[in-house]
Amino acid sequence: MKLLIIEDETELRNTISDFFKKNGELVIAAENIAEAEDKLLRHQFDVIILDITLPDGSGIDILPIIRDSQENSGVLILSAKNSLDDKIVGLDLGADDYLTKPFHLAELNSRIKALIRRKVFKGEKVIQFNEISINLSENQTYINDSLLMLTNKEFTLLLYLINNKNRVLTKESIAEHLWGDNIDFIDNYDFIYTHIKNLRKKIIAKGGEDYLKTIHGIGYKYTSI
Ligand code: CA
Repeated sequence: MKLLIIEDETELRNTISDFFKKNGELVIAAENIAEAEDKLLRHQFDVIILDITLPDGSGIDILPIIRDSQENSGVLILSAKNSLDDKIVGLDLGADDYLTKPFHLAELNSRIKALIRRKVFKGEKVIQFNEISINLSENQTYINDSLLMLTNKEFTLLLYLINNKNRVLTKESIAEHLWGDNIDFIDNYDFIYTHIKNLRKKIIAKGGEDYLKTIHGIGYKYTSI
């Protein structure tokens, strides 16, 4: 999943970023509204964690921009103030959830997971594609009933492929989904092949079908047709 964290307190921003990165999520951070607007123009996020009090304005003010540019993303508002006004205005302008500081990372994590299930996977807990099933609560993948051990990148890749089944995905979009901002520094996409090759190998070794079709010169398509 791809997360945007908009938070000006450096320590909190880093703590949240590190936590979700360790969980295998792709995290992009912004410390003010201007930076957040730039990231929102360049990426599609699954979840946005939005602080209210930012140095160049109120987080509430960019909610309309988020709703315009990020079709399916879930938005969770963070605020130091236990202000009912912020909460009501935020939810009115399209935020999905609200958490008051200070909070425990475990609480933030379970809210984010619930948001992802609700928004990205429309309430589903298990994503099924023929013999492949991905349990989103456990972050586990099964081929028939057999557990498939995947790295974080392979898991993210498989989820992305299945989520976009029957659509042609360019190498650029796959790279962007897996590496986010860091992609600016990479001049070829060879590193994608390694993950694709390993994912294929693992699925086939468990008796799964190879659904990944190479679209020459463009990218890939995950399809059983
Ligand atoms: Ca703040």
